[in-house]
Amino acid sequence: MGSFSSQLEQLSQQGNLRRLPEIDSDGRYAIRGGMKMLNLSSNDYLGLADNRALKEEFFHSLNPHECRFSSTSSRLLTGNFPIYTRLENQLAELYDAECALVFNSGYHANSGILPAVTDNRSLILADKLVHASIVDGIGLSKARNIRYRHNHYEQLERLVAENSSQYDKIFIVTESIFSMDGDECDLQRLVALKKNFHNIYLYVDEAHAFGVRGPQGLGCAEEQKLTRKIDFLVCTFGKAAASVGAFVICSNEIKEYLVNKMRTLIFTTALPPINLEWTQFMLHKIPFMHSRREHLEKISKKLRNALNPLNGDILSSSHIIPYVLGNSERAITAAERLQREGFYLLPVRPPTVPQGSSRLRISLNAEITDTEIEQLIHALHNLQTDL
Ligand SMILES: *Cc1c(COP(=O)(O)O)cnc(C)c1O
Repeated sequence: MGSFSSQLEQLSQQGNLRRLPEIDSDGRYAIRGGMKMLNLSSNDYLGLADNRALKEEFFHSLNPHECRFSSTSSRLLTGNFPIYTRLENQLAELYDAECALVFNSGYHANSGILPAVTDNRSLILADKLVHASIVDGIGLSKARNIRYRHNHYEQLERLVAENSSQYDKIFIVTESIFSMDGDECDLQRLVALKKNFHNIYLYVDEAHAFGVRGPQGLGCAEEQKLTRKIDFLVCTFGKAAASVGAFVICSNEIKEYLVNKMRTLIFTTALPPINLEWTQFMLHKIPFMHSRREHLEKISKKLRNALNPLNGDILSSSHIIPYVLGNSERAITAAERLQREGFYLLPVRPPTVPQGSSRLRISLNAEITDTEIEQLIHALHNLQTDL
């Protein structure tokens, strides 16, 4: 390992140096360097984060004397305010599940659950493309782990068959909609696989599907009527729900176990109650936002039809639509040009995506119009002929 400066220099030469952008937003626009651009890079998938009517209604519902902007301790000490129980009951009811457990973030959930529920007699089988927070959870776990090729279920089934008798518990870990490729796992097939073995636990991260998929926006598992078949159904509030935090839908037994063992739940100050109030407020609205979900799917389909044929093996089926450009420089050049044309797109580079697959990651939201999608497709088309 060289000096910090020489490593930074190396990153810079590879086109992989990251900087914190100075950025502001105004509704559906991102403002950067004096330019106002259509924001095609946020995870505000339903377009609710800056919704005036919702904010006003929420503020009117509050009594300032009852607002708490800090919980000042862990949920296991004095941080477990009544809103926590109310929110978890609301979630359990929505999912028709035994229970829910709320965490400070998706990162806390994913980096904490697997280390808590596994030991050296466990095996974790995780998709090659799972989010960094899950990778960190695997790293902190004492279990053996194998990463299977992305959505490669023959390999996964073989790994399960070969290993199931040698471990107490096997955890299959996947995302429902994948962060970078925008494609989906085959939940039906994973649930079917689990049925054949007594010791398999299914762990599904729905960070990109919560709010967006399913009749009530509860995710892909709801869409496919599989919520009860998944042992750890993890969703986050920071994306489509326009709030902060995360939760897992699980059995009472697992919840009790996590409360006793999960370090990222126990050893951190709980989220401020005011944030949970806002989450609960949003959770009352999101199940009814069918028209936003339908519009998002409509514009996504339009863009997928234009971009999927250009992306080789990568086949988005969601509102996250990559445009793969190869090396980092090409992705940077493309992003800069599109930004000048009024589209706020960012290059995604290694190590976030594999070498040679640097891309623009376009994430659509329900506030974007049909016309804007057509303009974007036009701009991408021109870009393709020029690059
Ligand atoms: C964003 C994301 C997370 C992290 O959630 P935060 O609440 O932002 O910490 C976890 N998993 C996936 C797949 C994500 O995209």
